[in-house]
Amino acid sequence: MPSMRVAQVAEPGGRFEIVERELPQPALGHVRIAVEAAGVCHSDEAFVQSTFPGVRFPLVTGHEVAGRIDALGEGVEGWETGERVEVGWFGGNCGHCLPCREGDFINCRNLQVPGWAYDGGYATHMIAPATALARIPDALSAVEAAPLGCAGVTTFSALRSSGARPGDLVAVLGIGGLGHLGVQYAAKLGFETVAVARGRGKEELALQLGADHYIDSSAGDPAGALQALGGAKVVLATAASADAMSAAFDGLAHRGRLIALGAVGDPLRISPSQLISGARSVHGHPSGTAQDVEDTLAFSALSGVRPMTETVPLSEVNDAFARMLSGAARFRMVLLPEGG
Ligand SMILES: [Zn+2]
Ligand SMILES: [Zn+2]
Repeated sequence: MPSMRVAQVAEPGGRFEIVERELPQPALGHVRIAVEAAGVCHSDEAFVQSTFPGVRFPLVTGHEVAGRIDALGEGVEGWETGERVEVGWFGGNCGHCLPCREGDFINCRNLQVPGWAYDGGYATHMIAPATALARIPDALSAVEAAPLGCAGVTTFSALRSSGARPGDLVAVLGIGGLGHLGVQYAAKLGFETVAVARGRGKEELALQLGADHYIDSSAGDPAGALQALGGAKVVLATAASADAMSAAFDGLAHRGRLIALGAVGDPLRISPSQLISGARSVHGHPSGTAQDVEDTLAFSALSGVRPMTETVPLSEVNDAFARMLSGAARFRMVLLPEGG
């Protein structure tokens, strides 16, 4: 009986253990993917801790998955065995809810997220609906592609739909798993790019990644520093801190928008007066569809944007996860099942 290996968590808050399972066959409309790389996203912690509703155990998480199609289910059209594919946070949509009927698939009320709706990519193989697939261009390795399915698409598609135009001042708040990609995308999209982070430790890196300016948010008032540069049309808030986002808001130019990406539960402290002054706004942005992922991969191949990664064999998933949680990862831990 052919088998696969998965890193599963048996109960909420538990550790990962590698177990062998029977290799599943893809159902109607689904494909089986031989996983080559899986990024470790901070959201995976919310699944492990069962913070999100409806998480089932044993849990196999992982929603930044790059690999190859190794089996096709019935009724799959437009995809072939052997094709290099990515599955990100968008793991399929229902097709019948109101947002789906409006064509707004990322806001599907029954959105399927790998590792939530079905077993994810911390494994040698996974099954996914064909509607969740994005093609990986030859220029990107699996390790480079994997983190773009969540961290990459979230920053890229937030920026390209932000309304900012080439030459506009765009600030990226936080230089981590999302922010180090956000700086690169902002620079390559032609924005005057400001990296904002605590301390001076990431300044040199931010400038290497393409930032035109660097603001140390711990050294003073980041909003004032942004206004001194003319005011930002967009603050792409990747830092997982409502306080940091609130402190940057007054750095927005007229009609500027704060785009919240760092998923935290505590409230922003922004007054109606702050919104009214300059007709400024706050937006949230949720990841992107499979086509957005494919666009992100293609743009990255074209422009040279690459995630900075640390690779670890799947068998060392507990170490990789701890390193991600501690904030020590530079900047994305990526699991390699072949080494597991
Ligand atoms: Zn994620
Ligand atoms: Zn739907």
